[in-house]
This record gives sequence, C-alpha cells and structure tokens, in this order.
Amino acid sequence: MKRVILGFALFLFLSCNSSSDKVYICENGSSTTFHVKQTCFALKKCNHKVVTESQEEALKEGKHVCHFCK
Ligand SMILES: [Zn+2]
Repeated sequence: MKRVILGFALFLFLSCNSSSDKVYICENGSSTTFHVKQTCFALKKCNHKVVTESQEEALKEGKHVCHFCK
C-alpha cells in the first residue's frame, strides 16, 4: 500500500514538473521570442493577446527565449 502512495506522489511530482515549462508569447503575429516570466517587462509592453504554450512547442515554431527574462 505504501508503494502505491509513493508511486502516486511521484506521478504528481512529474506532472507538476512538466507543466512548469510553460512560456508566454505576445501574439502579435510576428513575434519570434517567448518569455519564461510572466512579469517580464518586454511582455508587459505587449498590447496584443498573451498566450501560453510549452517551451518545447515554442522552440519547434522557431521562437527563441527573450534575453531579458531567460
Ligand atoms: Zn521576456
């Protein structure tokens, strides 16, 4: 029984981890950067919709990390 609880705790830990690599993108149509911090000042200047996606997905789209908040 203890083993089951441990396994469940590990699962929760792993699923928590995978959701922590969300990045923020200013959806202005031409943005090639993504932000790792929602509080990034460059992101705050965005007057379009801000969308979140996984870092992996952003990299696949050819975007690179913002150098202010990486
Ligand atoms: Zn940034």
